[in-house]
Amino acid sequence: MQAFDQVMAANEQYVASGRHTDLPVRPARQLAIVTCMDCRIPAFPVLGLELGDAHVIRNAGARVTDDVLRSLALSTHVLGTRNALVVGHTRCGLFDPEGTITATLTDLMGHLPFNQSWGTFTDPEESIRVDCDRLLRWPDRPSGFEVAGLLLEIETGALTTVVPPRQATPVTDVPGS
Ligand SMILES: [Zn+2]
Repeated sequence: MQAFDQVMAANEQYVASGRHTDLPVRPARQLAIVTCMDCRIPAFPVLGLELGDAHVIRNAGARVTDDVLRSLALSTHVLGTRNALVVGHTRCGLFDPEGTITATLTDLMGHLPFNQSWGTFTDPEESIRVDCDRLLRWPDRPSGFEVAGLLLEIETGALTTVVPPRQATPVTDVPGS
């Protein structure tokens, strides 16, 4: 497999370069990013991150799924992050205003895997708002949890604010929680 051979050859050079690190496991900026798996998003340089600064959790569409919350539980409660950024983007493969992607995928696969939706959306900014809201209401959120949402314009690399930084209500202050 060519892709495999390329990776292993590149790794030999990486090891020889001596650039590996013994940074602490806890992200220095107490920051977790949720963004899309899109191969055109260089998450670290776009956001000004260095190794050791942040967790970067990626999936199709930058959606806050149950599995993202699984990662965030570890990120926040064990590894000390307190800030979550949802970074969606323009020209995303899950932008599906006509429902054609959903129909095609479901037709190809013959079923919805893992009982999940495909996570498609008709409005990128609304998708970011919905996912930020899910984080702000996350029942297991830590105290001092802050959430913001950004839209990355793939064509220019520019970020715009969709959801300004908002502090989640402490879980203990929510009646019935
Ligand atoms: Zn995408």
